[in-house]
Amino acid sequence: MERPLSERLFAEAQRHIPGGVSSPVRAFKAVGGTPPFLVRGEGAYVWDADGNRYLDYVLSWGPLILGHAHPEVVARVKEVAERGLTFGAPHPLEAELAQAVKRAFPQVELVRFVNSGTEATMSALRLARGYTGRKYIVKFRGNYHGHADGLLVEAGSGALTLGVPSSAGVPQEYARLTLVLEYNDPEALRALLKERGEEIAAIIFEPVVGNAGVLVPTEDFLKALHEAKDYGVLLIADEVMTGFRLSFGGATERFGLKPDLVTLGKVLGGGLPAAAYGGRREVMEQVAPLGPVYQAGTLSGNPLAMAAGLATLEILEKNPGYYARLEAVGARLEAGLEEVLSRKGIPHAVNRVGSMLTVFFTEGPVRTFAEAKRTDTELFKRFFHGLLDRGVYWPPSNFEAAFLSILHGEEEVAMTLEALEKAL
Ligand code: PLP
Repeated sequence: MERPLSERLFAEAQRHIPGGVSSPVRAFKAVGGTPPFLVRGEGAYVWDADGNRYLDYVLSWGPLILGHAHPEVVARVKEVAERGLTFGAPHPLEAELAQAVKRAFPQVELVRFVNSGTEATMSALRLARGYTGRKYIVKFRGNYHGHADGLLVEAGSGALTLGVPSSAGVPQEYARLTLVLEYNDPEALRALLKERGEEIAAIIFEPVVGNAGVLVPTEDFLKALHEAKDYGVLLIADEVMTGFRLSFGGATERFGLKPDLVTLGKVLGGGLPAAAYGGRREVMEQVAPLGPVYQAGTLSGNPLAMAAGLATLEILEKNPGYYARLEAVGARLEAGLEEVLSRKGIPHAVNRVGSMLTVFFTEGPVRTFAEAKRTDTELFKRFFHGLLDRGVYWPPSNFEAAFLSILHGEEEVAMTLEALEKAL
């Protein structure tokens, strides 16, 4: 597959933008080669500047659960855009989207909109510190919560593939306030709580990890997380990736979680920049202008993002069968990948929850970040380029989740398996 135009565009972009990209993972550092410049999307497919078509498993890193350019979502955005792009004043769509969030997450009584998942988690932590008067937070190795200073400590996603688990520019003194534990290690968590529980403001976690590749939480780990509440620690479920994806009510609904705060993004904005944090009234009332925890945003709650998000959530709510479809197609893809890789004698572990999936090239099982890191990254590169050259756009890193949309079906699974078969 030839991409001369993408190559020229990438060379030009690198003259003006660090690495030629607006977010590191897009530069293909983990897999090598030139990223296709994508200029059109429709349903489960995207086209690059050279006119090549790809089946898309990235879906803008998760938001596009309805596929690209869903006609109803696009129509709602156009309708709103024609009346003005932003006002910096309250808009009726904000309360409408807030109500949709509350229907999905019944424990959320108040919700504040921001522009990115990073802002949502950063603000939720500030709120937790403000509410509890404590300064330490706990996160898990390989979990990624955006690029706020205190969260870029042993983080996943792009921070992993670049091999810089902690970023330069984050002061040691500040990073020290973030305590890091292994995911799926309930005993380590219980021990830390026993020793320092009363100093900890919050525990933030990915209820299903997508940013170290997919890691599935064990029941006992989820139980241990909830025990933190006995120490007055706020539990923050970072559902930026899982919210509205693993079910309408995210991982919270799927696993029966009881977080104090949830952070949302991706699907919430339906492809435009919207994210949110929300929770109990008593906690959320600490946020300005009601309380002393400051947080603001020029474009927060902007009408375009609210319209795209609301259209997306309403379509999902009206079609509960979509989640069964995502599950069924996900299961078929998982089984097909297992079958092809087993037949070829390639050690692998396919981790999947609903429409999030990762192929690890290692002897399974993969439950922790340490196990995920043992994976054969050279083989992954060949897997990735083998698929890309046959028109299947898989996430360009071993430590990411592939996503399905409601428009991925039998035909797309068959196409993927055929491409894999040929690639191997
Ligand atoms: N939290 C989780 C779980 C994520 O997966 C991400 C992004 O991948 C973020 C937070 C950060 O979101 P954003 O990229 O919108 O800042």
